[in-house]
Amino acid sequence: MAAPTESPKVLVTGGAGYIGSHAVLALEAAGYRVVVLDSLEYGHPEILERHTQAELVVGHTTDRDLLDQLFQAHDFAAVMHFAAYIAVGESVREPAKYYRNNVLGTLTLLEAMAAAQVSRFVFSSTCAIYGPPKTVPIPEDHPTNPISPYASSKLMVEQILRDFDQAHGLKSVAFRYFNAAGADPEGRSGEDHVPETHLIPLVLLTALGRRESVSIFGSDYPTPDGTCQRDYIHVTDLAQAHVLGLKYLLQGGQSQFINLGNGNGFSVKEVIDVARQVTGRDIKAVFCDRRPGDPPMLVGSSQRARDVLGWDPQYANLQDIIAHAWSWHQQRHG
Ligand code: UDP
Repeated sequence: MAAPTESPKVLVTGGAGYIGSHAVLALEAAGYRVVVLDSLEYGHPEILERHTQAELVVGHTTDRDLLDQLFQAHDFAAVMHFAAYIAVGESVREPAKYYRNNVLGTLTLLEAMAAAQVSRFVFSSTCAIYGPPKTVPIPEDHPTNPISPYASSKLMVEQILRDFDQAHGLKSVAFRYFNAAGADPEGRSGEDHVPETHLIPLVLLTALGRRESVSIFGSDYPTPDGTCQRDYIHVTDLAQAHVLGLKYLLQGGQSQFINLGNGNGFSVKEVIDVARQVTGRDIKAVFCDRRPGDPPMLVGSSQRARDVLGWDPQYANLQDIIAHAWSWHQQRHG
């Protein structure tokens, strides 16, 4: 059923992507109307067509003319900005690609918003801005020390957001994601990057026999089992936080930087072991060199998300996260 026309309309960039598509599902479930801007370099428009009412506009956030047309054609209450390149390793090899899309694209979008007097912005930032942590779980006031161009590109945007708030009154919530994982519990969307670089999908593609083995990047990190630790957060919980962030801004909230994680670290080896339990399959793992740009441990405190937004994650354990991802992968690639 279509949302009533008077409900607020939101522009979602990157809405055909992994996290963006889950956000579109959550926004529509909460009664918002959605227009998606996506370049479709990596996105999956069929997910939007099958499961949402969202209007899809194909284009780039660096295209100022297109953005101006969009802001003229629609009365947006806010923008949710997911469109970005996300591969840490690639960003080390091709930094310009990341600064152009992630920084210049966002700056162009913010300028178009300022010109159109749209002043509410929800942004996908990352825990990677913290670099190797000095305290765990990491609070939002932890010092920043990005060690990849990907992370630097996100931190640059956070600074731009501070300056746009000061200069133009643009209010934003920048969510610093820990490791988004899992899939829509109803099976409507899931993780499907091409090429795939993320651990959990690579592990599950190995379980499905579509890859021979999964590489473990580094075995000599200063962690209990020598492999990197990450804080995995269910993509549906992440999407729900975005809806709460949007409501907070629409109710007049001040700009915020907010971690989204579960506060529990799992090593690469532990992830593979849980995936073996969930799938009941043998998953071959091979130790390799460290991947440049990877901090040894990233585990976040989500206290601010709970306090400021009333966020209450529903799928906080790794078994659920991997089980939902496994259903999606079996349906998509089985
Ligand atoms: N990782 C790995 N093998 C892979 C992909 C990732 O060992 O094939 C590790 C990676 O070094 C990191 C963790 O798994 O410690 C999560 O990586 P991912 O790329 O999923 O997310 P990121 O932490 O880079 O956002």
